[in-house]
Amino acid sequence: MGLKAVGKSRWIENFSQDIAEAANLPAEKWVNSVCPYCGAGCSILYGVREGKVVSVRGNPEAWNRGGVCIKGATLADLYLSNSPGVKDRLKKPLLRDPEKRGSLENFREVSWDEALNYMVKKVKEYTKTKFGDKHPFAMYGSGQVSTEFMYLQAKFNVIGMNIHNDNNGRLCQATKANAMVISFGIDGPPMSFDDVFEADNLFIFGFNIADTLPGWFGKIVEAKVQKGDNLKIAVINPVKISATQILNYKAGDLYLPIIPTTDVAFINSMAHVIIYELEGVNRDYAGDVSRWADDVISGKVKPKHIDTEFIAKYVNFYRGDYQVLARLGKEGPKIFEEIKLPSGLEGFKEYAKFLAAYKPEDVAKTTGLTPEDIRKAAQMFVRNKNTMSMYLQGFGQQSNGVSKHLALVTLHAVTGRIGRAGAGVMPTVGQPNGLGQRVGGAVVGRLPGNRNHPLAAHRASLAKAMARGNQEMEAKILERLEDPVTKYSRLSLTSVDIFKNLKNGNIKGIWTVCTNPMVAFPNLNMVHEALRKADLVVVQDIYPTETMAFADVVLPAAAISGEAYGTYLNSERRVQILEKAVEPPGDALPDEIIHLAFVYKYQKALAEEGRQEDADFLKFLLEPIIQGYEPLFENVQANIRELREAHQEIQKRLFSELAYVSKGIPGNDLSGLSYERLRTEKDAKGYVGFKLPVLDSSHKGLERLYDENYEAIYQKRFATPDGKLRCFLFEQVHPAEEWIDAEYPFMLTLPRIYEHWHTRTRTGRCALPHRLRPEAWLSINPNDAKKLGIKDGDWVEVESRRGKVTVKAKIDTVKTPREGVVWMPWAYGFLGNLFTGQKEAPPGKSAGNVLSTDAYDPVSKQPELKFAAVKIRKV
Ligand code: SF4
Repeated sequence: MGLKAVGKSRWIENFSQDIAEAANLPAEKWVNSVCPYCGAGCSILYGVREGKVVSVRGNPEAWNRGGVCIKGATLADLYLSNSPGVKDRLKKPLLRDPEKRGSLENFREVSWDEALNYMVKKVKEYTKTKFGDKHPFAMYGSGQVSTEFMYLQAKFNVIGMNIHNDNNGRLCQATKANAMVISFGIDGPPMSFDDVFEADNLFIFGFNIADTLPGWFGKIVEAKVQKGDNLKIAVINPVKISATQILNYKAGDLYLPIIPTTDVAFINSMAHVIIYELEGVNRDYAGDVSRWADDVISGKVKPKHIDTEFIAKYVNFYRGDYQVLARLGKEGPKIFEEIKLPSGLEGFKEYAKFLAAYKPEDVAKTTGLTPEDIRKAAQMFVRNKNTMSMYLQGFGQQSNGVSKHLALVTLHAVTGRIGRAGAGVMPTVGQPNGLGQRVGGAVVGRLPGNRNHPLAAHRASLAKAMARGNQEMEAKILERLEDPVTKYSRLSLTSVDIFKNLKNGNIKGIWTVCTNPMVAFPNLNMVHEALRKADLVVVQDIYPTETMAFADVVLPAAAISGEAYGTYLNSERRVQILEKAVEPPGDALPDEIIHLAFVYKYQKALAEEGRQEDADFLKFLLEPIIQGYEPLFENVQANIRELREAHQEIQKRLFSELAYVSKGIPGNDLSGLSYERLRTEKDAKGYVGFKLPVLDSSHKGLERLYDENYEAIYQKRFATPDGKLRCFLFEQVHPAEEWIDAEYPFMLTLPRIYEHWHTRTRTGRCALPHRLRPEAWLSINPNDAKKLGIKDGDWVEVESRRGKVTVKAKIDTVKTPREGVVWMPWAYGFLGNLFTGQKEAPPGKSAGNVLSTDAYDPVSKQPELKFAAVKIRKV
């Protein structure tokens, strides 16, 4: 297949528009929104006819220039005919006896007020006690709701109600966010999609980009077509992912089938080759790297690939120490002092000495790569000026994820390949509004404006901005964020610990919003037990899910894409607006209205019970958002139409409050944005949406962070206190206890796939994605299959230390895993076939996450979804 064909096979224009028009259903109007699936964040237009969505197409005025992938192209299926997309929608609030958990049966329809009052009654009991720094009730949210909702989570959950709160971003972005704070001083993807056109070399680490962010992959194909072999690409992945189809091996592109979790060894080994071999330390100094470094420091030697000027001016070095870094969240940046090494070139000397142990021959066994391949990769890395590294879950979803990012940033820094067009690191996000979770402040460690919770100055500035001049309230907000005596951060539990403590009874109840942990979470048997034991499980969603089978309360939501107003932030920091195209079905309400209705009723209940101080505090926080609409929240059921109408104004208020409190936060400032600007203006390239930061009402946003333009604005190159990048000497470590052995000899990785989004809640109800991928499977290398006597299509049992699944084997000659590695998609749960309604017993015979481990990276607490030791048996 030619290069253009590879790109085209993933990029579709006007697919559903053509179908609608062939069926004589042309759209009467086109309404601007954003695709609700991946972190590419394609701008889309919903074609509306007689109040119904009839088609969807890419927005030609957006960065995606009219294109969408199969998931975006088939979105209209959710609104058409009598398909599961229409039939299955949740339309009424539901309640049931907790004893009846375990299936989707036995619910009764209730009014909004009955459902919310039931929750209020329970939660106000829970909030009489504490577990950790918070009350023992938790919200587990997602990267698929609006940024405004995420701000609500920060304002009312973390601060107002003082409950535990984390999002499913913990599973996919926590490593990147934490590592960026450590490296750069603040969170935020530093580069743009278009940087691929400026790069000479692309390193794609653990990122199945063609399948999981097809929108951005389209740009990479375009860049490769334009630049030909002047753009070299290295794909580092234990699975031969779809992106390898564009590699030209004869021209030097590389596919490196690395052993999972061993990227630090590979990165350090590339650095070793650059210093010891390409700079001539072995040849000219007989390997005496200290003597060579001294000559570099004195100026006697001018290295070819090491950027001494950049290091001297912009780099501080630290010892890579997981135990110390794990204390950052609670104790704040003073912990860096414990691991600080000399700065600038003296620190570089320590780095060069440290790398002695990473000779390619010495890491070949660990990484599974040949010394020759490591040398070729190192040569590619320093070829020409601009090298860009991009990575996603294969990097972050491992118990050593933070160390990988830090080792990679260090390599980019010492070679001066960071902080300009086409040079640097680009950790992306998987979910459509993954970054919104961080900017809104809905994940532990982040506060509104993507502030660092561990930073005292950030806590104080947030309290001040939110308090609107009321000093008493400012003190109260601050008290929710930090311990007044120790000045340590007061933090919620993170996701895995929320579920573990739900299981052991320390957390009493959970409210999930637009996420399906009974499929997506690691170690599903643990989640299953936790949800069964909880006193209260609330599920807020648009469709029945596997998690809903364990709910007592179900809250029907409007779909943010298509049925509500809001904003999303994509992987390149682009803020885009979503307009409402059609009314939600039945009594469904927008997420923000549901949450505010709960807080309103909870606050009234506290007042009635005499808990006046907490009630007054919540009233103060609610006021600027719902002022003038209070009577509507008194009787939600009677005011559904009015509350839907009020939604747009409430979203505007939330957005402008978030914009206000974000002012001054480097790289994350959206104070120059408003709904008005998002609707009427375009960015500097003429596309809809603006990339953060947007500093004032005439600013058009920044293309990238930490380049000269950034430095000119902030008077510092990086967002650390002294403006220097933090670089680390990190050894290859694997903190999780699990590894392969004689009993569990295979390494399992659980990726996403092109056809389905997350747990198939929506794509499983769209005809084409469902038909293409109706069930789960296990992909296995042909040599491993032969050894195990497995033929294509045989049923196999895959078992880890936590559970087992039974799926068909696919002897994969396309997306082939390296020998010893197997992969299966994690999208499938026990609801099985959503078209026929065929179900299984929970947690599901082919649910991949039954196998995965909830061990996590000690710093980011992101679980290890990309490695589990398994055994395989033909059945
Ligand atoms: S799934 Fe991603 S690439 Fe596909 S249309 Fe949606 S945002 Fe674009």
